[in-house]
Amino acid sequence: MKVQDFLKNIITENYCSGCGICTATINSPLTMHLSEHGQYLPKLKGIENQQNIICPFDNTQPNENEIARKLYDNTGSQFNPEFGFYQNIYAGYVAQGDYRKTGSSGGGVSWLTQTLLDKNLVDYVLNVTEQNNPEIRFKYQVAKDVKSNRSGSKSKYYPTNLEEVLQFVKMHKGRYALVGLPCFIKGIRLLQQTESVFAERLRFTISIFCGHLKSTHYLSSLISQFPVDEKAVKHFDFRYKLPGHKASDYGTKIITNEGKEIVKVNKELFGTNWGWGLFKLKACDYCDDIIGETADISFGDAWIPKYENDYQGTNIIVTRHPVLEDLIQKYRTNGHLYYDTLTPEELIQSQAGGFRHRREGLAYRLYLQQEKGKYVPEKRVKPEKVTSKKRRKIYKLRMQLQEKSFYSKHYNDISALKKELLPFIQKLEKVYEHSAWTKFRLKLKKWLKNQ
Ligand SMILES: Cc1cc2nc3c(=O)[nH]c(=O)nc-3n(C[C@H](O)[C@H](O)[C@H](O)COP(=O)(O)OP(=O)(O)OC[C@H]3O[C@@H](n4cnc5c(N)ncnc54)[C@H](O)[C@@H]3O)c2cc1C
Ligand code: SF4
Ligand code: SF4
Repeated sequence: MKVQDFLKNIITENYCSGCGICTATINSPLTMHLSEHGQYLPKLKGIENQQNIICPFDNTQPNENEIARKLYDNTGSQFNPEFGFYQNIYAGYVAQGDYRKTGSSGGGVSWLTQTLLDKNLVDYVLNVTEQNNPEIRFKYQVAKDVKSNRSGSKSKYYPTNLEEVLQFVKMHKGRYALVGLPCFIKGIRLLQQTESVFAERLRFTISIFCGHLKSTHYLSSLISQFPVDEKAVKHFDFRYKLPGHKASDYGTKIITNEGKEIVKVNKELFGTNWGWGLFKLKACDYCDDIIGETADISFGDAWIPKYENDYQGTNIIVTRHPVLEDLIQKYRTNGHLYYDTLTPEELIQSQAGGFRHRREGLAYRLYLQQEKGKYVPEKRVKPEKVTSKKRRKIYKLRMQLQEKSFYSKHYNDISALKKELLPFIQKLEKVYEHSAWTKFRLKLKKWLKNQ
């Protein structure tokens, strides 16, 4: 895509997830910066040139199915129309060491990256770690030993970008494994098609499932609900496991500069309801890859009743690369990993909300954008008006909440933020209540009919 089209379609319309891929091509005129709204965006660093820009949101590039088909069609994989190619689907956790305890879910990602380093299958791991800087709390790092790799554990609902680490890859020979969100991995796949250095050096790509990404203001809004100043927070954990609770009912933990630990149950913190989508990037509402279909392996949370009751956390894993599939099989047999095999239906069930929002919901959002005569990124989901009036209301209210919260000036003043957003949230909750009421009426009707 030429710079002019790119600026007009992706940047002005804000279909940007801030991955930083567009800065990595030779002679790219772009560099990343953190916007006033807490989102990474590219900006021109010098004179605009005719360089072709690579971006996962570019309509003219191959989609996830086309990319994955080239990579995995000949590896004995099966294809599912909802989530693409897969060799096997597992649910479980790492039984070895404390990976599960220190991970967000079953600890699978950190175990795999460490195993790739230990078995000399890669020299470096690119993952996201915490840094002691209240302006930019989390960032991509190049990890090459246990300490640095393990410091990357846990999910960060916080924006990051690949600009610096991709520069490192360019300048340092070696074999790399990259952990990233689905759109980051798609961007990498596109980059690998044109820049051989990335095709040669990035040996394994590991995706985490992704519901949506937040701006930095989400973290600020959470800290504003703790009795400390944002600058006094040294450590922030979005996924603190709470014994006796469901795995999905986790907490947020902070440690202050003085070493004081404070934990709050997420349910009690305003804005943690993912269905509201507060501080969500707009791009995430126009993304149809939930599990990272172009990655060699994907890890998510097993949000299904048989695993959810265990507070320690359980991963869902989708394998695509034969070497990684073999590793999982080997370590499953020797007891390092405890993994059950899942069906495609169970995988979809575990991410039911995500699939609904990014299939039916996405079709409707595309329809609405098209109706306004706006540019929309071409997706595998086609624009369509949703038939249910209630679902239409839900999707429209979610769009309003995304926009209101994303541009809100009150992100670090919880009372003002609530005042601004509650009218929309209450409307949304009312629609849900009506849905529950309708369900109840239908059940009652059926029951009366059977009497
Ligand atoms: C923004 C976001 C949205 C998510 N949405 C969903 C969802 O809808 N459904 C679902 O099942 N799972 C989702 N996940 C994934 C889930 O939270 C776990 O990360 C995943 O299950 C892996 O758990 P683990 O215990 O194996 O990982 P761990 O061993 O704890 O390792 C986590 C790995 O993810 C990397 N990482 C953390 N944050 C980021 C980030 N922002 N960008 C790139 N890499 C990162 C870390 O560096 C580390 O390598 C999401 C994660 C993120 C960051
Ligand atoms: S999505 Fe990534 S590649 Fe596209 S414009 Fe944004 S930062 Fe650049
Ligand atoms: S929802 Fe999609 S666009 Fe948003 S961060 Fe996740 S993978 Fe990227």
